Amino acid sequence: MDTILVVNAGSSSVKFQVFAAQSSGELTRKIKGQIDGIGTRPRLRGSDADGAQSADREFRPEDVADVPAALHAAAAWLRDELRINPTAIGHRVVHGGPDFDRPVLVTAEVLARLERYVPLAPLHQPHNLAPIRSILARSPDLPQVACFDTAFHRGHSAIVDHYAIPERFYTEGVRRYGFHGLSYEYIATRLPQVAPEIASARVIVAHLGSGASMCALAGGRSVESSMGFTALDGIPMGTRPGQIDPGVLLYLIEQKGMSAAAVADLLYRECGLKGLSGISNDVRELQASKDPRAQFALDHFCYRVALHAGMLASALGGLDAFVFTAGIGENSADVRARVAARLEWLGAELDAAANAAHAMLISRQGSRLALYVVPTDEELMIARHTSALLRPTR
Ligand code: AMP
Repeated sequence: MDTILVVNAGSSSVKFQVFAAQSSGELTRKIKGQIDGIGTRPRLRGSDADGAQSADREFRPEDVADVPAALHAAAAWLRDELRINPTAIGHRVVHGGPDFDRPVLVTAEVLARLERYVPLAPLHQPHNLAPIRSILARSPDLPQVACFDTAFHRGHSAIVDHYAIPERFYTEGVRRYGFHGLSYEYIATRLPQVAPEIASARVIVAHLGSGASMCALAGGRSVESSMGFTALDGIPMGTRPGQIDPGVLLYLIEQKGMSAAAVADLLYRECGLKGLSGISNDVRELQASKDPRAQFALDHFCYRVALHAGMLASALGGLDAFVFTAGIGENSADVRARVAARLEWLGAELDAAANAAHAMLISRQGSRLALYVVPTDEELMIARHTSALLRPTR
C-alpha cells in the first residue's frame, strides 16, 4: 500500500493531505492539514478526513521561515505523531508551460524545465517548486509527481490559445494557457458517474472559489477557458479583477506612476469582490451585509459569470449543461440563483427548492439547460495522478 502526500504550496501557506492508496488504485483520504503564516506566525493545523482536529500548534518564525521548512514541519508531525511516512508526494504546480500536457515524475531534468516557467508565473511557480527541489536534494529516491493547473487545457486549438499579438511572443510562451485544470479534470471524471446524460455533451464548468474561472467542456475535454496567460483573466475573483482593459494598466503606470510591483499587488490583492465592495472578498460576508456596495459587487460578479458563459457557449456552439463548483459554487445558493436567472435565455430554469437544498441537480425537469452542483476535489485528482504514475514502476 502506498501513502501519498498531496502538497499545495503557496507563498505564505502550505496545504497538504494524506491518502492511502491500495494496489487496486482505490484511494482513501486520511489527513488534511495546513501550515499558514510562514515566516511570520507559523501555525500548523491538522485534522482527520472527517474534520476532527488532531493538531493546532504555533512555531517560531525562524523555525518555519520558508515553504520547504513548512513542509518539513508538516512531515515531522506526520512521522513522529501519526506514524505516517509518505511513499510518494504529489505536488500542485501552477504552470506546466507549453510542453507538459499531463503530470510527470520529477527528475532533476524535469525540475530544471519547470524552473524555466517561473517567469510565466512568478508569484506562484517558485513556491510550488521550492519544496520539490528541497525534497529531491534530501530524499532523491522518494517519488515526486508534479500535477499542473495548465495541463488539462493543453489540447486547446491554436485559435483558442493565441492572443492577437506578434507571433514571436507566442513562441516564447505568451499564450492563453487556462488554469484550475485539476479541478476541471476532476469534474470531467465525475460527470459520467453523477450526470451521465451530460458527460459527453457541451458543458460549462464554473469553478467559483477565491480564485475563479470557467471552462468549456466538449465530450469531457477542455476546449476553452476564461483564464489566459495568468490566473488574472476572466471573471472577477475574491481579490482579482478578472478581464480588464490593458489600457487601465497603462494608465496606472503612466499617469499614476505605479511600479510593476504595485500594479501586481493591486491586481492580485486589492481588486475583485474586495475592491469593488470595499468590504470583503468573502461571499458569506457580502451576502450578510446590508451595504448596497456588497450587493452591487455580488451582482457584478454574477453578471460577469453569465457574460463569460455566453462566450464559452459560443466556443461550444451551444450549451447543454452548466456546472457550479468550488467554495462559492458549491455553497452559495444566492450566487447560483442570480447566475441562473441571467442564463434563462440559454434555457436555464432553476428549481429554487433544489437550489436551496444544495442538491446535485438544481434545474427543473424539462429545463433546456441542465444546472448542476458538483463538489470539486483537486487533492484527490493529484493523489490519483500520483498513484497512477507510480503503479507501472511497482
Ligand atoms: P475556495 O477557494 O474554493 O475554497 O472558496 C472560498 C470562497 O468560497 C470563500 O472566500 C467564500 O467567498 C466562498 N464560500 C465558502 N463557503 C461559503 C458559503 N457557505 N456561502 C457562500 N460563500 C461561501
